[in-house]
Amino acid sequence: MGHFCVNCGAALVIRVIEGREVEACPNDSFVLWHDPKVSTAVIVETDGGIVLGRRSIEPGYGLWCLPGGFVNDDEDPAAAAVRECFEEISAPVEVTGLIGVFHIAKTDAPSMIGIAYRGRLVDGARPSAGAEMLEVGVFPPDSLPSLAFPSHRTMVAEYLKSLAPAEEAAPRPAREVAPRARRPSRARVPRQPRRRR
Ligand SMILES: [Zn+2]
Repeated sequence: MGHFCVNCGAALVIRVIEGREVEACPNDSFVLWHDPKVSTAVIVETDGGIVLGRRSIEPGYGLWCLPGGFVNDDEDPAAAAVRECFEEISAPVEVTGLIGVFHIAKTDAPSMIGIAYRGRLVDGARPSAGAEMLEVGVFPPDSLPSLAFPSHRTMVAEYLKSLAPAEEAAPRPAREVAPRARRPSRARVPRQPRRRR
């Protein structure tokens, strides 16, 4: 593999640590750990559906994705998610919950830990395309365009699963429903007044 120590420049050698073969420095304590990268994605709920961006960069140029991105070393993941949303959909977003934590296996790059949050636009905010997006759109959760990344598809599927129990719990016999106002589904965020497209 030909990697070198970041401390002393020596060629790394194979050592077995905790049952795992790793490259380590023969002179000091440096070990080339293959840690996963940590990435976030946010399902931003609005009245009209969830906010997606169409990518203006590779990978996935021209395809839709959830806003989000990598977590910096000094960042809380939720803060990183909010920062990435602001960069990508140009709108302040509040994280409102956790959808799940996912292992995203890669063969050609470090694997990722993907953290999917639920979020909403800060009152009055309107999304628009940031530097890495061609456009942004709002789509009903049950009719999304195809997404650039399998991990985002997994996250959306998990999100849709999280919505289902609330909808299943809601139905009542028709005679009871009739006199009441219909409750909004959990996919709709009443505090978010604006509708995009
Ligand atoms: Zn060294």
